[in-house]
Amino acid sequence: MSDAETLFEKIIAREIPAEIVYETDTTLAFRDIQPQARVHVLVVPKKRYRNLAEFAAADPAGLADVVATAAKVAELEGISASGYRVVFNTDADAGQTVFHVHAHVLGGEQLGHFGR
Ligand code: 5GP
Repeated sequence: MSDAETLFEKIIAREIPAEIVYETDTTLAFRDIQPQARVHVLVVPKKRYRNLAEFAAADPAGLADVVATAAKVAELEGISASGYRVVFNTDADAGQTVFHVHAHVLGGEQLGHFGR
């Protein structure tokens, strides 16, 4: 893992603002600054891992917390019944831009099919 701090550590530390929608001891959920759907929330572990592979290998309980938080966010946003998507963009081909692992929670409208 690179030591370079990402902006998500600054959001977790409240050093830069974000619209926080939910928080647990181990996770933080906040709205994406460039939403790709009517509901677009990012869920991050407070402890930093570079990507999903590193996170899953080092901290499976933490990963379960992030997934549970994603489901809770869907409930709070009122999209549990209509459906939603949870995505971890991982490294270059997926276009990961922030190297502090995060789940995107997307919904609130009919989503396009994923892929290319
Ligand atoms: P990735 O491309 O790494 O999967 O997702 C990074 C996400 O972070 C993008 O959807 C982008 O819009 C979002 N993002 C980038 N900078 C900020 C910011 O300063 N605040 C918030 N809330 N989201 C950001």
